[in-house]
Amino acid sequence: MSKHVVILGAGYAGLRALHELQKGNNEIKITLVDQNDYHFEATDIHEVAAGIQTSERITYPIKDVVKSTCTTFVQGTVEKIDSDNQEVHLKDQAPLSYDYLIVALGYESESFGIPGVEEFSLKMVDIPTSEKVYQHLTEQMKAYKETKDENCLKIVVCGAGFTGIELLGSLVEGKKKLAEIAGVEPDKIQLYCVEAVTRLLPMFSEKLGGYGIDHLKKWGVNFLVGKPIKEIKQDTVVYLNDQETNELKELAAKTIIWTTGVSGSHVVGDSGFAAKRGRVMVQPDLTDPDHNNVYIIGDCSAVMDKESNRPYPTTAQISLKMGEHAGKNIKAQLKGEPTKEFTFKSLGSVASIGNSHAFGEVGKMEVKGYPASVIKKTIMDRSLFETGGIKEMLAKGRFDFYR
Ligand code: NAD
Repeated sequence: MSKHVVILGAGYAGLRALHELQKGNNEIKITLVDQNDYHFEATDIHEVAAGIQTSERITYPIKDVVKSTCTTFVQGTVEKIDSDNQEVHLKDQAPLSYDYLIVALGYESESFGIPGVEEFSLKMVDIPTSEKVYQHLTEQMKAYKETKDENCLKIVVCGAGFTGIELLGSLVEGKKKLAEIAGVEPDKIQLYCVEAVTRLLPMFSEKLGGYGIDHLKKWGVNFLVGKPIKEIKQDTVVYLNDQETNELKELAAKTIIWTTGVSGSHVVGDSGFAAKRGRVMVQPDLTDPDHNNVYIIGDCSAVMDKESNRPYPTTAQISLKMGEHAGKNIKAQLKGEPTKEFTFKSLGSVASIGNSHAFGEVGKMEVKGYPASVIKKTIMDRSLFETGGIKEMLAKGRFDFYR
């Protein structure tokens, strides 16, 4: 009888695993589960939040990549994994049993328990939350027209990590459209970034990180660095201004966007896996330490980088590689062959700051400016190709290499 592989999550890791498992003539039945009927490019959601891209542009239907001869797609919400009984429990649907399971449920916004984050700031983690950010922004611009309250024109991004920086770049670009709604000059829209540490973007050299930050400053972004946020109140960010005196300061703004980091899906910890911030330290072949038929990949997974002795950072690039690897290892297990250890060599990473500027590393080379933005778009196109094939890459890829 053919074995049943269940894949949870249709993000980068899940879809790349699906692609691998659908390849060739395998005696398997696959079920793919996702709460949405579309895949979204998680690396591009900041563009939707800033209103410089529509969500249609960064999504495609999951059915487009499902081979109906071997795969069934189930739209549903995973509530719990019962790994002892090899079952997945879905909200309001019959449980699914599996022989092999791939957990690729992605990430969630991390509040670090800071008071007021859930109530008074906007998350930006998926399509609905990104669309909500843009909708909120347009509402504030309209409110300014009525009230002339300057705080309606103030936007605070909390955290200057990769996500915060890319969002600020897109907001700089989106300012013109927002200003038109408010009936003001773009310069009247004030962008702030409040960041806990002083050494920004530690994955890059200081000079390279500085290049991106300096550009954002030049384009009008106000950075408050070395200022950990302690609380979010209604329309107010409270931050520690002086570590020695414990002096707190407040920054008022009608739009506060929370981008201070992510954790893996809560489902992983809720299901009894040994997770820290939703991430499980997996075996070298990407299986759970207690279950050799359960692969945990993408943002729910922590894999040790033997060179740095720290887990690899979560990126789309590593998620895609993990998906491919998990798919190959399951195929090996089905043939009675040993699984292989996961190895990863980062190709580098590039942060976009708007549509035609970027900075980052490709291999050992530092790239900046317009050429870096071309590289960034090539990376985006490649990841679209890896999950969605040529069809989605041609339909949704970035080929606007203009100056
Ligand atoms: P991050 O952890 O990389 O950055 C979060 C930032 O918020 C840090 O600079 C941190 O010091 C700051 N911060 C944390 N708590 C704070 C507080 N209380 N007050 C003020 N600042 C605070 O998180 P991210 O930017 O959300 O990225 C998550 C992961 O996704 C990272 O691994 C990142 O590299 C990856 N990512 C990659 C890409 C890409 O490759 N294009 C894009 C986006 C995200």
